[in-house]
Order: sequence, then structure tokens, then C-alpha cells
Amino acid sequence: VSDIRELTDVMRHFSEERDWTQFHDPKSLALALVGEVGELAELLQWLPVTGIEDRVREAALNQRLGEELADVLLYLLRLADVLDVDLTAAADRKLQANAAKFPASTYRGKAPERS
Ligand SMILES: [Mg+2]
Repeated sequence: VSDIRELTDVMRHFSEERDWTQFHDPKSLALALVGEVGELAELLQWLPVTGIEDRVREAALNQRLGEELADVLLYLLRLADVLDVDLTAAADRKLQANAAKFPASTYRGKAPERS
């Protein structure tokens, strides 16, 4: 399983095999996604900023981060599938829009300001 469409299909099959699609309405999936983002944030929330790049590469924490990132990805894919959103195309459009909105010549090294 190596691309977004294939992962999406595997997730759909996983859900159908367990008759879980009945629980996969957009609201429930969005909440599940937020919950997994929370689990990811929880792993990082009290780590001191100084030295964090080394800490997140320590084996045990890095494995846990990978697990929560995977949970986030899988719920994101499932939500996009239920919403009939082509996530690859949507992400591509968004990247193009961001490139136009934040030209590198203007924003290089500068954090975007809130608008
Ligand atoms: Mg999780």
C-alpha cells in the first residue's frame, strides 16, 4: 500500500469488512480525526522546545508519533472518501493557491501574517 488512492481503498474495505461504514458519517469521522490529532499533540505538548528535534527521533517516541500520524492519515483518508473528495486533487489545488498567495520572492524566511 503506497499511495493515497490505494490506502483509501484499503480503509474502505477494512470498514466494510467490519460493517463499520454505518458509523462513518462525516461528523463522526471529523471528530475521530480531531481526536487523533489530539493524541498526536499530547505526545509533544510538554516537551521542551530546546532539544525537541533530538527527542522526537528517539526510537520509542518516534514510533508513537508514527502511530498517531498514521491514525490521523487513515481517518483523513476515510473522511475524504465518505465526502467524495479527491484528496490528491484538492491538495494539489491548495498547494497551487498557496504558492500564488505566498510567493517565495516575498515570503522567503517570513511567517505569513494572519489576514
Ligand atoms: Mg491514536
